[in-house]
Amino acid sequence: MVPAYYLLIHFIIWFTDWSTYLLPDRQHAISGMIIMNLIFVCAGFAAPFRYSLIAHVLLLVDIWIANLFIHYDNLQMMYMFNVPCVFAVCVMHYLMQNVYLEQYVTKEKMQRMVMLDQLTGVDNRNRLKELCIPSTSELNFPSGLKVSVLLMDIDYFKTVNDKYGHESGDKVLAHLAQLLKSLVRSTDYVIRWGGEEFLVLMPDCGTNPAVGIAEKIREKVESSDNGVCKVTISIGVAAYEGGDYHEVIKKADEAMYQAKENGRNQVVLFKEG
Ligand code: GH3
Ligand code: MG
Ligand code: MG
Repeated sequence: MVPAYYLLIHFIIWFTDWSTYLLPDRQHAISGMIIMNLIFVCAGFAAPFRYSLIAHVLLLVDIWIANLFIHYDNLQMMYMFNVPCVFAVCVMHYLMQNVYLEQYVTKEKMQRMVMLDQLTGVDNRNRLKELCIPSTSELNFPSGLKVSVLLMDIDYFKTVNDKYGHESGDKVLAHLAQLLKSLVRSTDYVIRWGGEEFLVLMPDCGTNPAVGIAEKIREKVESSDNGVCKVTISIGVAAYEGGDYHEVIKKADEAMYQAKENGRNQVVLFKEG
C-alpha cells in the first residue's frame, strides 16, 4: 500500500506541474510547489524509511523534469529549499525508525510477553497487577463501576492428563482459553490464573449478568469439542467492591470450592456468611 500512496502523491505532483505548464501566469507556481513539498514531507513520515528515501529523491527528479517544460524562474531557489529539506527529513526519518521506533516496538513486545501465558495465548496474572493503581493492589476502575470476577477450574483435569497424556491436557487448556475469549466481551479480561484455573474480570458488569454469562460459559464448555475429550468446569462468581483485588479472588475461590462440593459442573455466586 505504501508505494501505492507515494505513487498517488507523485501523480498529484505531475498533474499540478501539468496545470502549471498550462497557466498563462506562473507567478504563484513556486508557492504551490512549496506547499506540495510540505504535504509530501508530512506523508513521508507515515512510511518505512526505504520508501521515504526513494520517494523524496524522486521528488527532486520531479522538479528537474517539470522544469524542462515549465522553465521555473526560481529553479535555484526551489533546489535550495528542497535539497536540505529532503536531506533533513530523510536523516530524521532514519533516526526515528532505527533508534526510537525499534526501541519502542521491542519494549511493547516485552511488556506484552510479561503479561502473556505462552500455552494458551491469554493473559497471565501479571495483567491484574497492571490494572491496579500503581504500588497498590486496588483495581484502577472508576468508583461506582460494577465489576465482577469469575474464577473457574476444570473438573477432574488430572484424569484427563492421566488418560490422554499431558500434551492433550495442554490442548484442552488452550481450547478452553480461546473459547472463553470468544464468549466474553472485548472489554473483559481472560486470565490464566494457574494450572487449569482461569479468571475472567468483567468491568461494568453486576453479579446478576455475570452469573448469566458464567452459566453460558459452563454450558458451552460442556457441549464444545476440544479435540480430546468432554470436560466440564466449576465457576465461582463474586463482586469486586473496591480495595485489594485478592479479596474478590478469595471470595470467587470460595464460591468455586462450593461448586465443587455441590457436585461440580455448576456456577455458584459468593454470598457472605
Ligand atoms: P477437581 O478440580 O475437579 O477437584 O479435580 P482436578 O483433577 O482437576 O484437580 P487438581 O487441582 O487436583 O488437578 C489439577 C491438574 O491440572 C493437576 C496438574 O497435573 C494439571 N495441570 C496443571 N497445569 C497444567 C498444564 O499446564 N498442563 C497440563 N496438561 N496439565 C496441567
Ligand atoms: Mg485446580
Ligand atoms: Mg480441577
